Amino acid sequence: MSERESMTYDVVVVGAGPSGLATAIRLRQLAAQSGKDVSVCIVEKGSEVGAHILSGAVIDPIALTELLPDWKKDGAPLNQPVTEDRFLFLSKEGSRPVPAWILPACFKNHGNYIASLGNVCRWLGTQAEAAGVEIYPGFAAAEILYTEDGRVRGVATGDMGIGKNGEKTGRYQPGIELHAKYTIFAEGCRGHLGRQLESRFKLREGRGPQVYGIGLKELWEVKAEKHVPGLVVHTAGWPLENDTYGGSFLYHLEANQVAVGFVVGLGYENPYLHPFEEFQRYKTHAAIRGFFEGGRRISYGARAIAAGGLQSLPKLTFPGGALVGDDAGFLKRRPSPRSAPDARRTSSRPIPPRSRRAGFTTSCIARATSSRGCRRASPWARSWSASTRSSSAERRRGPSPTTRPTTRRCCPRTASRPSSIQSPTASSPSTGSPPFSCPTRTMKRTSRLT
Ligand SMILES: Cc1cc2nc3c(=O)[nH]c(=O)nc-3n(C[C@H](O)[C@H](O)[C@H](O)COP(=O)(O)OP(=O)(O)OC[C@H]3O[C@@H](n4cnc5c(N)ncnc54)[C@H](O)[C@@H]3O)c2cc1C
Repeated sequence: MSERESMTYDVVVVGAGPSGLATAIRLRQLAAQSGKDVSVCIVEKGSEVGAHILSGAVIDPIALTELLPDWKKDGAPLNQPVTEDRFLFLSKEGSRPVPAWILPACFKNHGNYIASLGNVCRWLGTQAEAAGVEIYPGFAAAEILYTEDGRVRGVATGDMGIGKNGEKTGRYQPGIELHAKYTIFAEGCRGHLGRQLESRFKLREGRGPQVYGIGLKELWEVKAEKHVPGLVVHTAGWPLENDTYGGSFLYHLEANQVAVGFVVGLGYENPYLHPFEEFQRYKTHAAIRGFFEGGRRISYGARAIAAGGLQSLPKLTFPGGALVGDDAGFLKRRPSPRSAPDARRTSSRPIPPRSRRAGFTTSCIARATSSRGCRRASPWARSWSASTRSSSAERRRGPSPTTRPTTRRCCPRTASRPSSIQSPTASSPSTGSPPFSCPTRTMKRTSRLT
């Protein structure tokens, strides 16, 4: 017999990100409309709602308006409307602005807001609780529970108080079973339970394969004179090769804060490419580094991004539950011409690695950076593409002995770095942090990274 305690709900939601919270709120709204009492609970592995959220984030409020039409009156933390969109093609030496009329819709952010998605989730959490949702932060769903006939009947949280060798310590507490008629999985990109469900219920059968990118992000406090509230800057090109998917985003939030990030599709072919180092190099570009001079980095992190688009979505439902949000592979974007062939090729034959390149919201960046995108865009983009081609070819071959130390390994594990840039938190606002840092310190996630 199981030693675990159990609790029963109508619906259990795994993950208190935007999709999990929105699901829970909507369920309670629908239940209220139909005069039923539907009990809904959310388990969140972060220490609090919003603690594990990492995003840009330029937010299109369209879904929020549908869910909670009074969000402005109710104090949603969307305070900084987008005031200006800039898109730059970077080359090593310079940059060229792209006229707005060429840009795809995803780079036109009029009507959107720049916000901390972590704060938006905290606020959504309060709205969910007000609607009667029970939220349990600090509990990770570790196991999927099934009925005898194979239907999902809930999740179990992980045991606590397990020593590093796997033995029970004095603080041992068994996990709790949360039973439900329906369990909604909203774990975010590449959720481990979601992937188990995909294989158990064959949810990916007949669907395009998913492709991924990595998104690296830093939050900076910049000098007041460098801050342009509401400015959105996207870039493509340098330091990436013109056939590598990726690009950058730079968003000026409120209170002198700037969110800067770099996305690289994980289908890159150059084995020497190091996304974090490319991010650090990007910040040294003449068109970019000025924003950060005299500023200080507050926090940083990285997260996977599902980039396959609509054609890569798995079947969303299975007996006893559903996948929502990034767990299913949703990301606000249209299917990209580059990932469409992936979908058509699915399952019948293996996908050659070249066609597995990832896209992203910023996947539009990817489209713009690809040489195909450049050809479509304009003659000057074509010439820009040509000018970067020789260095691309060099990179594909791998670094030559002469380029290796400077371009590939910017930080030979801190040895040659000035001490002031080894710890982002050590830099004082007065001295400021330079816009690059040591890759050995990257993948730590801090709890307040928007
Ligand atoms: C660098 C970067 C920049 C981005 N910029 C933008 C942008 O500008 N605009 C935009 O619209 N989108 C942007 N996105 C995408 C956006 O962040 C995601 O689409 C969105 O956060 C997905 O929400 P979600 O609720 O599905 O998942 P998530 O936001 O990932 O939330 C999942 C939640 O589930 C929790 N969880 C996971 N597993 C478990 C478990 N087993 N048990 C309990 N809890 C669990 C996690 O702790 C987390 O709180 C960006 C993404 C990245 C990485």
